[in-house]
Amino acid sequence: MVDSKPLFELYSQKTFFFVIVLYWLSGVALYSDESKLNAKQSKVLKESFSYLETLEPKRIRIDKSTYNRLTQFESIFKFGFSGKKLSRWIQSRIKKYSYGSTGEYIAMYHDGDVLLGRAFFSLNRMDRILVLLHEARHADGKSYGHVVCPENFQFLNPRDWKIHPAGKKGCDDVPDGSYGITAAFIFELGAFGYLNQTEAAHRYNSEISRVIRD
Ligand SMILES: [Zn+2]
Repeated sequence: MVDSKPLFELYSQKTFFFVIVLYWLSGVALYSDESKLNAKQSKVLKESFSYLETLEPKRIRIDKSTYNRLTQFESIFKFGFSGKKLSRWIQSRIKKYSYGSTGEYIAMYHDGDVLLGRAFFSLNRMDRILVLLHEARHADGKSYGHVVCPENFQFLNPRDWKIHPAGKKGCDDVPDGSYGITAAFIFELGAFGYLNQTEAAHRYNSEISRVIRD
C-alpha cells in the first residue's frame, strides 16, 4: 500500500477542512440569532443615554405634600434625582448590548449582557430609557427577579399590547425591583414637569401595577 499514505494525507486534509467548515457553520448557527448592534442601533442606544443625561432636577411643579408622600427615587438609588447619575448607574450594570430575538419581551438581561429585540428600536426615547433602567436592575441579583403575575391581571402592557402579563413572570414582589424603580423615575419626571401630569400618572400607574403585594 505504497500509495496509501498520500491518499490518507489527502483525506485528512479534506477532513480537516470539513471540520473547520462545520465549526464555522456551528458558530454561525449558534450566534445567528444574536449579533452586535449595527451602527444605526448603536446610535439609537447612545441617543437614549444622551437624552437621559439632560434630565436634571428642577423646581417641583406638583403639590409638595404629594411629592413628599410618593417620592421614592432617593431612597431607592441613594442619590437625588439626576439623569447623569442614573445613566452611570445603568452603565455600571450593563456591560454589553446585543441585538436578537427576544420572543415575548422587548429586551432580556443575562449575566451583564442585555439582548435588545427589534421592538426596542421602534420605541420612543422615554420608553427606551425605561427598558434600559428595568434591565439594569436585573444586574443586582436574583432578589430582583420577577414573580408570576396573577392569572386575573388585567393591566395592559403600555409598550406592547400583544404582551399579556397575566400568569407570566412579569411582576415584582419587592417595591424596588425593575418596576418599582421605573415607577420612581417616572414620578420624578412628572414632579419636575418633564412629563405632563396625565402622561406621568398613566406611566407611573402602569409600572406600579406590576408591583404586587400579598
Ligand atoms: Zn425584567
